[in-house]
Amino acid sequence: MAIQTVNPATGEVVKSFTPHTSAEVKQKIEAAEKAFRSWRDVSFEERARHMNRQAEILESEAEKYGRIISLEMGKPLKDGIAEVKKCALACRYYADNAADFLADEEIETKAERSLIAFEPLGVVLAVMPWNFPFWQAYRFLAPALMAGNVGLLKHASNVPQCGLAIEEIVRKAGFPEDVFQTLLIGSKEVNAVIEHPHVKAVTLTGSEGAGSHVAQKAGQEIKKTVLELGGSDAFIVLEDADLEQASETAVKSRMVNTGQSCIAAKRFIVVESIADAFLQKFKTKMEKLKTGDPLQDEIDFGPLARVDLAEDLEKQVQESVKQGAEVVLDGGREGKDSAYFKPMILKNVKPGMPAYEEEMFGPVAAVMVVKDEEEAIKVANDSRFGLGGAVWTQDRECGLRVARKVETGAMFVNAMVASSPEMPFGGIKKSGYGRELSYLGIREFVNQKSIWVA
Ligand code: NDP
Repeated sequence: MAIQTVNPATGEVVKSFTPHTSAEVKQKIEAAEKAFRSWRDVSFEERARHMNRQAEILESEAEKYGRIISLEMGKPLKDGIAEVKKCALACRYYADNAADFLADEEIETKAERSLIAFEPLGVVLAVMPWNFPFWQAYRFLAPALMAGNVGLLKHASNVPQCGLAIEEIVRKAGFPEDVFQTLLIGSKEVNAVIEHPHVKAVTLTGSEGAGSHVAQKAGQEIKKTVLELGGSDAFIVLEDADLEQASETAVKSRMVNTGQSCIAAKRFIVVESIADAFLQKFKTKMEKLKTGDPLQDEIDFGPLARVDLAEDLEKQVQESVKQGAEVVLDGGREGKDSAYFKPMILKNVKPGMPAYEEEMFGPVAAVMVVKDEEEAIKVANDSRFGLGGAVWTQDRECGLRVARKVETGAMFVNAMVASSPEMPFGGIKKSGYGRELSYLGIREFVNQKSIWVA
């Protein structure tokens, strides 16, 4: 894929970039290693000063950076601005807490003194996607830099200006030269970066295919990986749920980022006694959403990030319908060359259909009607993904019980699945492994060293 900004709202190629050559990439890796040798010894206080400055820049220039996001991947400007501001939260969170999260842990043993020290690993490569082009990168960047690591970002080929903007923000915040650099490279060049002896670990957010490829290479090189991959989150609605709130959140959770979120609700598992009532409300609310130019104020969703993503989604819908899925809300693509895709709701979604088995990365809701709580859990777990999920019930104990039984990295009771700096984020099964955010996230890319003093 060419490294270029293509406005998905118009199809216009806005700017093309010349990829870095392999010699340039090598130079950048060497510069990163050199930066690491001094950055690892910088105090937490000084790291935090830069990180807090970075948060200020993100907040004060949120509109400027939000516009770049909207231009490159089509999300409404207000959502782009909110995304940039959320990155400031992660920066502040790790600026405030990194020293505590990585403080020596004294352990009682036979030794005079024994402890676990948490030391940075060095150069870490981040392979990131376009859907939240700032937030995904900052989820890595903030803890990694606070831990004393240095970062190399290989951003998705359709968001190069976001990648370069992040590099610029880090520089403006006063971090030393080369502590964080963006590599303008295609996915084929990632192997060579992983192979480089200075690169110590890799984190990837994206599709199963990309994750599997990168983890395979990193495994060959014996390098640590964290993978945050796709999801097909269940949104379980039980008999006693508040249907007004559940349906409102169902719309938000399916339509977040025009449906292009790993933790968007994708499979709506609804108990039969309230299925019709829920569906009616869900459909009515979906119909009210407005689309248009991402830079306009009054829109709820924009185009998908690329035309090929809209084509793939259309094929998944067509195949599901061919196999018997019923269209409750008709929408879909606006035209052959368009990245716009109107929301759809499919009912009677069954095993074997793409809407049941695969991740639907766009505004298509798959509805499955079940008998009761037990069947809801069974269907929720009948997925190769295990990222997040939600359950709606007025009985909190029941909510907690269901939450414990659904096989995912996160469950939300009466709320929409979302990430926040304090809570660990990541999946099980084909959704990946390892955790981002929270104190667990910052401990992924550190040497957890045992020190024994006899
Ligand atoms: P990809 O997984 O292909 O892209 C994500 C990142 O991985 C990009 O930086 C991409 O680079 C890179 N990449 C892709 N293949 C390789 C590889 N073999 N080796 C190294 N790096 C690689 O996502 P797509 O844009 O193609 O989207 C396809 C689907 O992936 C979506 O429909 C969705 O299902 C899923 N997805 C999930 C995301 C999530 O948040 N979990 C985010 C984005 C996508 P490049 O852009 O240069 O190809």
